[in-house]
Amino acid sequence: NKTVPSDIEIAQQATMQNITKIARGIGLVEDDIELFGKYKAKLSYEAIERLKTAKNGRLILVTAINPTAAGEGKSTVTVGLGDALQKKGKSAMIAMREPSLGPVMGVKGGATGGGYAQVLPMEDINLHFTGDIHAITTANNALSAMIDNHLHQGNECKIDPRRIIWKRVLDMNDRALRKVVVGLGGPVQGVPREDGFDITVASEIMAVLCLATDLEDLKRRLSLIVVAYTYDKEPITVADIGVEGALTLLLKDALKPNLVQTIEQTPALVHGGPFANIAHGCNSVMATSAALKLADYVVTEAGFGADLGAEKFLNIKTRAAGVHPDAIVIVATIRALKMHGGQNKTALKEENIPALQAGLENLEKHIETIQAFGLPHVVAINRFITDTTEETKVLTEWCRNKQTPYALTEVWEKGGEGGLELAEQVLAAMEKPSFFSPIYSLQDSLADKISKVATEVYGAKEVVFSNKAQKQLEQFESYGWGELPICMAKTQYSLSDDAAKLGRPKDFTLHIRELLPKIGAGFIVALTGDVMTMPGLPKNPAALKMNVSLEGKAVGLF
Ligand code: ADP
Repeated sequence: NKTVPSDIEIAQQATMQNITKIARGIGLVEDDIELFGKYKAKLSYEAIERLKTAKNGRLILVTAINPTAAGEGKSTVTVGLGDALQKKGKSAMIAMREPSLGPVMGVKGGATGGGYAQVLPMEDINLHFTGDIHAITTANNALSAMIDNHLHQGNECKIDPRRIIWKRVLDMNDRALRKVVVGLGGPVQGVPREDGFDITVASEIMAVLCLATDLEDLKRRLSLIVVAYTYDKEPITVADIGVEGALTLLLKDALKPNLVQTIEQTPALVHGGPFANIAHGCNSVMATSAALKLADYVVTEAGFGADLGAEKFLNIKTRAAGVHPDAIVIVATIRALKMHGGQNKTALKEENIPALQAGLENLEKHIETIQAFGLPHVVAINRFITDTTEETKVLTEWCRNKQTPYALTEVWEKGGEGGLELAEQVLAAMEKPSFFSPIYSLQDSLADKISKVATEVYGAKEVVFSNKAQKQLEQFESYGWGELPICMAKTQYSLSDDAAKLGRPKDFTLHIRELLPKIGAGFIVALTGDVMTMPGLPKNPAALKMNVSLEGKAVGLF
């Protein structure tokens, strides 16, 4: 029984190419990139501008079944598929999100793939990387400071301090900051009011950065952000406060996509990182668009299951980016399917055919969802060494019976080599006719859009709006926000709004608690169940295992 090296051990043993060489490989010259040391670079605006006339490559979106405690390996398959395409001699690139420090310190460890399918340098990408997320934190909190200063200096806009919806942010899981009071201490300390912190990746500025198509669009979107309401309940925007210029300035470098490489030296753009449960869950439009200009095949990823990340990719990001995927990969693992079928988390290594068979209904729902969007798909079975022959047979036979293309994927263990079959299936899927169409039209009412996602994507029987949400539906339509898409905030673990309901829940009611206007991002968030926009740390945070060697090498980072 050989010991399996950890992700970080594998990453640290890999040989990286100088990033200028990776850039040259995709047709970029020295002036096209801005170096952050030897292995990271940003694409310059000049390079992006020049690329605009190039032809687009084809786009492959990786999504998954509903995640379980195990982690399904979406990022791993994304990286591995990019490597496999490159191995097949294709011009391929990866476009994926950058990790948030909150989950890195908390539960998840890395978000840079795993095993032999990782983007590098994983320590940097998982920690401060090129500082984009810090820039977003700063821009977000600069806006908070400007709002509080506006109140302090006479409140010309007549902002009702009880109706400020702009929160401060921190890129950390910190439940103690969910609700705070600011401005305590008397007249010179500002105006006391209730405030709160979200995690940075839930900031509207993260969404704005990820949906903006250039600096001008970034500024336009920033200016539209609604931060508060007046005593007469009129929305107050960033433009009313007058800081869209300053915020754009703070973000001028963060908007440029970051170029790195995989263990197999496939070029990857890692940029922007909204969560898919509380935000729209996709890497930046800037990165996806640039990658499509630089490579014939681009593998990208949307967070959590197809009910969250992929739904938002297909209903929100496609409209902002003006492109849609040519094929979808749905990642499934036997472990997770068994959990969906009732197998206990502690017994995932044991063979359990009935649980696997029962859990397949979760995969089935996601396949139906992708078909509803009119796109071809391939199921990637991400193999774990604990999968038994019999279990694998059950799953592959199920796929064959359903005439669902599938591929056994071993990229975690073997890198690109383990993804060749998947690459072939995906190339074949892209040759099939696709009839992409979003699930809802922008002209549908906000309530109808929410209902369509709930019934068609989640399988809900009905949607119930709280009194508050009901009132907001009317208000938002009256403010002229009725034609925006919807960004659902929902637990990732279940198709329903109840994290405990695994598999394929039926006849359930989806509860909409509250709506949040994200006018700069260009969508309305619908909060379901009790989903949180500032996570907490678990009892045994991943941080307890982390350290750094005296030579400055990261230790225990997953
Ligand atoms: P997701 O993107 O779905 O959250 P990741 O790709 O980040 O999942 O993988 C989560 C963790 O699971 C990573 O640490 C990765 O190394 C591990 N993992 C993924 N696939 C496998 C596999 N086939 N065998 C063992 N571990 C795996």
